This record gives sequence, structure tokens and C-alpha cells, in this order.
Amino acid sequence: MRPITVRPGQEGSLRVTQVPEPPPEAGAVLVQGLALGICGTDREIAVGEYGWAPDGRDELVLGHESLGRVLEAPHGAGVAAGDLVVGIVRRPDPVPCECCAAGRFDLCRNGRYTERGIKSLDGYGSERWRIEPDYAVRVDPRLERVGVLMEPTSVVAKAWEVAADALERAYVPPRTALVTGDGPIGLLAALIAVQRGLDVHVLDVVTEGPKPRLVRDLGATYHTGEIADIGVEPDVVLECTGVGELVFDAIAATAAPGVVCLTGVSPAGRRIGIDAGALNRTMVLENDAVIGSVNAHRRHYEQAADVLAAADDGWLEGLITRRVPLDDCAAAFEKGGDDIKAVVEL
Ligand code: BGC
Repeated sequence: MRPITVRPGQEGSLRVTQVPEPPPEAGAVLVQGLALGICGTDREIAVGEYGWAPDGRDELVLGHESLGRVLEAPHGAGVAAGDLVVGIVRRPDPVPCECCAAGRFDLCRNGRYTERGIKSLDGYGSERWRIEPDYAVRVDPRLERVGVLMEPTSVVAKAWEVAADALERAYVPPRTALVTGDGPIGLLAALIAVQRGLDVHVLDVVTEGPKPRLVRDLGATYHTGEIADIGVEPDVVLECTGVGELVFDAIAATAAPGVVCLTGVSPAGRRIGIDAGALNRTMVLENDAVIGSVNAHRRHYEQAADVLAAADDGWLEGLITRRVPLDDCAAAFEKGGDDIKAVVEL
């Protein structure tokens, strides 16, 4: 069977190879891979800037945004042959830390967690993969075309949960949300904000193409330019770009008490000048909170399934702007101009 592999740390090493079937030790549930979403993390791994091979090997099977159909599952696995499934990305650290021991591997405290397709565990980018029953999440059969959006939606569902916890302090319920960035994470963040009944604003740089249209189709308002010019003071900002200037502009722009939730994993080494005094002053005087959020726990996948089930199918399909066959998978790692989400068909 054929997986997509890379040698982490080595640019240009992405290829489709031929390997034996996954061994039963890899998990009791055998899955036929259907689709694999490609995100910024995969692109970073493909150019050698991120990613770890499993111990004792130098190649990693890529892919963490999965969708597959169960071929075999033991009785009591919670999924059965024929079910659509998505695989949870992270596994607990072996120590385990207090969070991993309690099942909250998405909050791992010592960084020794593993992640399928990213960190020391083979991913879901292959014609067949195996998974432990506890890490397989069932997907509504109606979502066959868009179920591959479940993992990024789970990441955003967690970010919204984190932001909502922080907003609890605010006494008044939030009314206005700003999402910075309208890639897949930003658009899914805007979808959840609309489903939460907020007045939603999305800021990005493009002026035409599918992204502004998808924002408007949600009933949200699309902006370009500076945060300071959007004309609203958001109660909450979901920052989905990882761009340093935007992070600090977002902190300055919130209403009091505001919440900024950061989801963009930016490369280290980018330096900007900031007025640290003004930043501290704003945060203190406005009771602001800035919180980071990464990865997702099983319950966030379940929330993601609800979010996708409640969304308009056509709108979700609009997020998938390219579907490429496994043999041409390298093309999915090149970012096209109007691309939102590229998917490899397995
Ligand atoms: C994935 C997360 C993962 C993070 C860091 C993201 O692209 O969606 O599941 O935790 O990368 O490796």
C-alpha cells in the first residue's frame, strides 16, 4: 500500500512510496483512507522546517487531517465496518504528565506527547491506516465530501471553548467577534462564531476570490486593512494568522474586558518593535486576557462533528478548493493563489 512520506528536516523528500500493510499492533481498527487535508503544518514538514520521524526511523508518514472508512473493527470498538471515521491526532506522553494522565493530552505539560503525521508517529496519509478504537471518531455519513474538515474544526472548537471560558469573567455576554485571517482555520472560526450568535467580523488582506464571498455567505462582515479601522471593538478575537503585528494590534483593539485567543503557530525568529508599556497598560486597565490554544481533545472532535452537521454543506464544500489524486500529492503542498483547503484523495 502507498503512503505519502517525508524525511523530517529534509526539504524535497516528499514522495509516495510502497510499504507493507499496517501491522495489527498499530491499532485494532483498520481504515481505508479516503481523504487527507493539507495545512500549514504539513507544508512546514514538507520543506523540512518541522516534524519528527518515529524513533529509529528517518521517514515519517505524513498527514493528520484524516477521513477514512472503517474496513475492520473489533466488537465494542465504537465504530464498525462501513463507518466514516476521523483519527485523533495527539497521543499522551509516556510519563505521563498530570494532564495526559487525566486524558487531556491536548494540554500536555512536558512536550513529550506524540502526534500522528507530525511528531514521532506515522500519520493518516496512506491508502490504509490503523488506529486504536479510543482515537477513532465517527463521522455522519452525510459528511462524506467534507468530513476531512473535522480535524481543523476540532482545533477551532477547542479555541472557542478556551475563549468562552475566559469570556465568562466579562459579566456581560460577548456580542462581537473578530477573526483575523480567512484561511481554513479563520473561516471555520467564523462559522463557529456565527453559530454562537455573535456579530462576526473577519479581517484579511485579499480583496477578491472565494474567501471574502465565503465570509459574506456566512452573514459575517469582511474587512481588509488595519484592525484599528474596522469600526467595531470586538469582545473576542480569534487570531488565526500568527502574524506578530496582528497579534499585538488585536490585543489593543478589544473592548474591555477583552479576550484574544491565539491559534496561529508562527515560525520563531520574527522580531518586531512594540510599545511594551502601552501593551501592559491596556491589558491591565481593560482586564484583558490573551490565551493560546493548540490541538484538540476527543470532546472537541465531537463538538466539531456537531458544527459541521449544523453548517451548510455547500458552504463547507466551498472551503475545499482543490482535490488532487495521491499520485499528484506534491501539488497539494504548493499553495495556489485562491486556495483555501487542498485535499489529497487517497
Ligand atoms: C495540528 C494540531 C497540532 C499542531 C502542532 C496543527 O497543525 O492541527 O493537531 O497539535 O499542528 O503540531
